[in-house]
Amino acid sequence: MKKFALLLLALLGMASSHAQSAIDRPRLVVGIVVDQMRWDYLYTYNQMWRSDGMRRLLREGYSCANTIIDYVPTFTACGHSCVYTGTTPAFNGIVGNTMMVHGKAVASVQDSKVKSVGTTTKVGQASPRNLLVTTLGDELRLATNMKARVVGVSLKDRAAILPAGHAANGAYWYDSKVPGFVTSTYYCDRLPQWVEQFNKRNKRTMTDYDLWNNRNGVTMTIDMALAAIDGERLGQDEVPDLLAISISTTDYVGHTWSTRSLQLDSIYDQLDIDMARLLNSLDQKVGKGNYLLFLTADHGATHNYKYMSEHHLPTGTMGNTSFEKKVNEEVKRRFGIDKVIKAHMGYNWFLDNEAIAAARADREAVKRTIIELVESDDCISWVIDCEHPYDRGIPREVVDRVVKGYYPKRCGELYVIPVTGVYSGSHSGKGSTHGTWNQSDSHIPLLFYGWHVPHGERIERNGMVDIAPTIAAMLHIQAPDACIGQPIPFK
Ligand SMILES: [Zn+2]
Repeated sequence: MKKFALLLLALLGMASSHAQSAIDRPRLVVGIVVDQMRWDYLYTYNQMWRSDGMRRLLREGYSCANTIIDYVPTFTACGHSCVYTGTTPAFNGIVGNTMMVHGKAVASVQDSKVKSVGTTTKVGQASPRNLLVTTLGDELRLATNMKARVVGVSLKDRAAILPAGHAANGAYWYDSKVPGFVTSTYYCDRLPQWVEQFNKRNKRTMTDYDLWNNRNGVTMTIDMALAAIDGERLGQDEVPDLLAISISTTDYVGHTWSTRSLQLDSIYDQLDIDMARLLNSLDQKVGKGNYLLFLTADHGATHNYKYMSEHHLPTGTMGNTSFEKKVNEEVKRRFGIDKVIKAHMGYNWFLDNEAIAAARADREAVKRTIIELVESDDCISWVIDCEHPYDRGIPREVVDRVVKGYYPKRCGELYVIPVTGVYSGSHSGKGSTHGTWNQSDSHIPLLFYGWHVPHGERIERNGMVDIAPTIAAMLHIQAPDACIGQPIPFK
């Protein structure tokens, strides 16, 4: 009997030491990307934040106050990809919201090989196929033998799909024609029951409001995220899951009304209310201290041209189309080439190489002509020849960002850098925009909160590429495969 008791004790000891050696991980990782949230909004709206919403993150969480996107263009699809892959467009292949793939202009997540699920429109024809590398969620799935569950939720397709990654269990985005959240056959053949129920439950609000431009858009996204926690049983066991939430309404309202508008104030007020609701729900559903959350943005925004000029601040706008016309005319006159600029995507210009070859023109001379012509305009600092980016003594701070955003198979040869403060748009425009290398567009908030996160702040510079490896290091999983960032130490 005594022997048996000893054996039992030994076995119990083994069991408990086994339990102790289990990897210490949170039950749920929640990533929140607030589209177009400038870093300084944390303080612009500081008086407005309630104690249990954004202020709770600032009061108890860890702020990396100098986090920079160190590639261009600072656009949505690139930002969402970078946050979750820890690498830049040159590696992950997501070089813009629209990109040239195999010579055809396509939206970043557009995929004609898959079918819409939950809608008869083409809104569901999307997948992460154009993303070339693994994401944080993919690595979490690999590290747990696919036991971890990974879900992405957003109004925008690209903001749900790219963060969720390739091996995700689901990604859901919004189709206002339904109206409702939809997905594609990349993930499943019919909407899960919980999504159908969610759409039914919220049909009235979805019909009555334009979620893209109304505070209800923020609330609906958070509601959908909470429904995903229940529907997909996220954070309910020892295996960590990942929920990627992206708030898109902030971007739409910013583009329409600008950075200093009452309309945007109202959206951020709603974000604060919904953040409190999200945190309280996570406390209840997953348990306080059991989840690890981060909040960041895919890019910032430049202040509106009229607002800046009213206050005598450096600003300006440039129009791609008028440049294109001028360049095409001059190149035609000098080299006999018709329409040398084949396309432009953001600040990236594509040459018509076939037309250059057909005219037997010296390609380098053509490029030099274009560069000189465009740079002679007062609103342009440089035009970078992406094929020889370091040749001309342009500051590395700028050139490095162009190089990190340049994937030759999907990018044009020339990259236009406007003078600081100048952006692509019209003088009369109301809203704001983004895309440049400057602080306004590239300085993003980065807050960590929850599981094993101390309260604090660091002012040392970090990159957007550091977010994924930080979470990976905390989870003791591999960083995404093309990650070039470093884990950020909490002090
Ligand atoms: Zn965006």
